[in-house]
Amino acid sequence: MQTIVTDHSEVALSFENQFANELPGDQDMENTRRQVIGACYSLVAPTPVPAPALVAYSKEAAAELGLSEEECRAPWFKDVFSGNLILGDMKPYAMCYGGHQFGNWAGQLGDGRAINLGEIVNAANQRWTLQLKGAGPTPYSRSADGLAVLRSSLREFICSEAMYHLGIPTTRALSLILTGDQVLRDMFYDGHPELEPGAVVCRTSPSFIRFGNFEILSSRKEYDLLEQLLRFTIKNDFPEIHGSSDVDRYLQWFTEVCRKTAQMIVHWMRVGFVHGVMNSDNMSVLGLTIDYGPYGWLEGYDPTWTPNTTDAQGRRYCYGNQPYMAQWNLMQLANAIYPLIKEEKVLQEALESYRLTFQEEWQQTLRAKLGLHTDEKHDDQLISSLLELLTKTETDMTIFFRDLANVDVSEKDGDKLLHIVSESFYSPDAIDDEHLSNLKSWLHLYRLRLLRNDLADEQRKQKMNRVNPKYVFRNYLAQQAIDKVQEGDYSEVEELLELFRNPYDEQPERHHCAAKRPEWARNKPGCSMLSCSS
Ligand code: AMP
Ligand code: MG
Repeated sequence: MQTIVTDHSEVALSFENQFANELPGDQDMENTRRQVIGACYSLVAPTPVPAPALVAYSKEAAAELGLSEEECRAPWFKDVFSGNLILGDMKPYAMCYGGHQFGNWAGQLGDGRAINLGEIVNAANQRWTLQLKGAGPTPYSRSADGLAVLRSSLREFICSEAMYHLGIPTTRALSLILTGDQVLRDMFYDGHPELEPGAVVCRTSPSFIRFGNFEILSSRKEYDLLEQLLRFTIKNDFPEIHGSSDVDRYLQWFTEVCRKTAQMIVHWMRVGFVHGVMNSDNMSVLGLTIDYGPYGWLEGYDPTWTPNTTDAQGRRYCYGNQPYMAQWNLMQLANAIYPLIKEEKVLQEALESYRLTFQEEWQQTLRAKLGLHTDEKHDDQLISSLLELLTKTETDMTIFFRDLANVDVSEKDGDKLLHIVSESFYSPDAIDDEHLSNLKSWLHLYRLRLLRNDLADEQRKQKMNRVNPKYVFRNYLAQQAIDKVQEGDYSEVEELLELFRNPYDEQPERHHCAAKRPEWARNKPGCSMLSCSS
């Protein structure tokens, strides 16, 4: 049952509602599915849930909000973050946004199952928006139920926090709560729907504004509102931007979005993260990874790999395409704000700055992944020939780069050099002689290059180990945790949270979590590819 309390002295949170107070909302208060015109959001309360059970919380995300672990374990916590307890100072709302999905304009989308509770300002004066995902229908739910199931919620909860500890810009996740509801999902889209446990994740972010929030207003020619949203975004999330004119500030803002997006993509590429659904409604203007759906991590290094079954044909959102897809989305954002800028050339220049930032930072990152400390003329060639080689036989990207740090510059024996990285091959016996010899030649070149590197092996290894994680959230690890929670055992979630607190450190007692994907997981649903069903 849902309770609304005005006096909530035992709840250690107080909410502000800048987004809802400063921007125009939907005049219609009915929670019916519709086109919402002339508004940035609709006020809507979460749907109460029958039996909230806390599966896990992130103590780090909680600390950002000023919440202690004791408070996370207090009874009110699961009531507030399941949507059962509405505090008097909350003004829950769902955002209106649109988006380009798989290259096509999809019109109004909006928070169809996410409800923002409001904002918390922490002791460091940082603003966090708290959002429940899977909290029931909103005016933007279209034909869906507004709910989320355990498997996708767990994947979002753990991955958000893992990404944070990997140093990748991301929205965060505070809690994972089972609702006690059963939710019907046709996981394989093959006409066999089944009931699954329902769950709610509380996500936190300085802002959940997406490219699509601007696109919807522009598509409707609601240019005053578009400008209002842009001013609001700059004021709150880009306070460092000052300019001689409005147009100048808007352009600076767009250039900054390009820069932040480029940096986020570089990080994804560094760790082999594939988002899977880079639609423009899933792109944060803060350059944060948002909306964890059918994402995945490269196991075998294959730039054409996509984790999303819906994307299997076109491979639009495969690993190697991510830099281009981000730029394509930025172009949609540029189109959306064009009516406020009215100068094509400057927007084109900003888009070009995305490409340059990405290129420059990606090259630097690749150099860091290889531990190239000094700069040499043929480094680019050394790097590109390696990436080419990695595609020739199924080679685990994470293990390969991690183990590459162990190359000993005094080792001249090709077999011994190869042995250093051999754990990364999925079918070592199937590698043909030509490829083996190419790999050895590359390792020799690399060793010779390292001799001119001006860094001792141990120092180089330490540096490489800060950019090449030991542990990533391999798809089969996620599936094992989901299976356990479904049996009522939540311990694996804690174990994974703990593992990902230090993804760059050797954790000998957890080495099995760094192992390459076991054969049983190769084609198992959830372990290889995922559908969008969530
Ligand atoms: P996604 O592809 O998950 O980013 O979702 C695209 C749009 O569909 C977003 O507007 C979501 O809020 C909405 N959506 C996804 N799943 C549901 C659901 N179960 N109920 C209502 N809306 C949903
Ligand atoms: Mg989305």
